[in-house]
Amino acid sequence: MKILHRSHDRNSLIPAFSLFGTLLALHGAVHAVAAERADILITGGTVITMDQDRRVLDNGAIAIVGKRIAAVGTAAELRARFRAGQVIDARRKVVMPGLIDGHGHAGHELLKTLAADSDKWDWIVERIYAHGSTPDFWKADAMLAGLERLKFGVTSSVNFFGGGDNVYRVDDPKYG
Ligand SMILES: [Zn+2]
Repeated sequence: MKILHRSHDRNSLIPAFSLFGTLLALHGAVHAVAAERADILITGGTVITMDQDRRVLDNGAIAIVGKRIAAVGTAAELRARFRAGQVIDARRKVVMPGLIDGHGHAGHELLKTLAADSDKWDWIVERIYAHGSTPDFWKADAMLAGLERLKFGVTSSVNFFGGGDNVYRVDDPKYG
């Protein structure tokens, strides 16, 4: 009786395994067809979404297609959904939207805090900015401002020439 029963079980396992194999093959085929193409997949970072629910995703991911963000989700979700041309490992990093710096003073990039602890600071910057500077000074200042902002995650900013009560120079766009 036991032998017969075993034999019966063995026979019924064969179609069961073939069905399982077919399902696996179908599952693979469905995944191969459904995978979307992304140019870049940034994975593994802590993603600060700034979406309406203010989600912060540990081990998150961002898929980029062309110049647009195609999807934001967990690394597991997006790895399953996308096949990416480039994968950027963002583990131990924060991935967040660019910051906006709405208050920058032209000239301060190069001078930094030079003489900031002096009571003659206003007089010094007035001399340099309004009388002792050249267009190259302002160009270098603007370029340094741009590079430093990118380094700190700022993607939009404004710089204006001016400060205090009397140090302004707006007589030419090159000072803007
Ligand atoms: Zn200010």
